[in-house]
Amino acid sequence: VISVRGIDKHFGDFQALKDIDLDIHRGEVVALIGASGSGKSTLCRCINRLETISAGEILIDGEPLPEEGRELARLRSDVGMVFQSFNLFPHLRAVENVTLGPTKVRGVPKAEATKEAMGLLARVGLEGKEHSLPTALSGGQQQRVAIARALAMKPKAMLFDEPTSALDPEVINEVLDVMTELAEAGMTMLVVTHEMGFARRVCDRVVFMDDGEIVEQGEPEQFFTAPESQRAKDFLSKIL
Ligand code: ATP
Ligand code: MG
Repeated sequence: VISVRGIDKHFGDFQALKDIDLDIHRGEVVALIGASGSGKSTLCRCINRLETISAGEILIDGEPLPEEGRELARLRSDVGMVFQSFNLFPHLRAVENVTLGPTKVRGVPKAEATKEAMGLLARVGLEGKEHSLPTALSGGQQQRVAIARALAMKPKAMLFDEPTSALDPEVINEVLDVMTELAEAGMTMLVVTHEMGFARRVCDRVVFMDDGEIVEQGEPEQFFTAPESQRAKDFLSKIL
């Protein structure tokens, strides 16, 4: 579904991504891990064209992402994104946060979008919270609204950038559970995470980045028990 070919990303003189190649197939769940500053968020942001790329190309379902305009809004909505900070609209109720994209970008009628949103909020375990404002929700609940909001656009794939790292420990699992269910339902997912348990249990593949490069990738069991590169060994020895 997502095909990243030879992308480079420069910020001035600094090269944040170096010749990245990555294919994510339909239904595949890929964990993206690596030290702080290794380029994980930058890669996610490039995939969604929140950043421009300096070289290479990114295809979504075989179609290149256009640089700008209406087509970009449509294609961007093919890839849902969930961030560390939930980025909900603070003045909109949960259900309104979820319906905004479909009504504004996809032209779905309000009533239909609302019905759909209520279903999605139930799916992420937020029945009864549909009319709450973000400030009245816990971090875990806000993050689940953010997931419902992304799903409302009927994305072909979902990108998660450290979706649990801003959460209190006791609510991390409720978000990971929703992500696990999504994975089991066949969603194509790229997940930047420090939750190694999740990576091991749920992901089909682990991609390890260091210093702007993909250094190593493989099946989680293989990667966590017998990493090949010294850089992966060093990283794992610090976090496990
Ligand atoms: P973390 O685990 O801390 O989130 P990360 O792997 O997501 O780290 P990135 O945020 O992708 O890392 O950053 C990669 C590198 O690019 C870092 O060295 C960062 O300082 C640099 N960088 C990111 N965004 C910008 C920007 N807008 N301008 C300049 N440099 C940037
Ligand atoms: Mg990051």
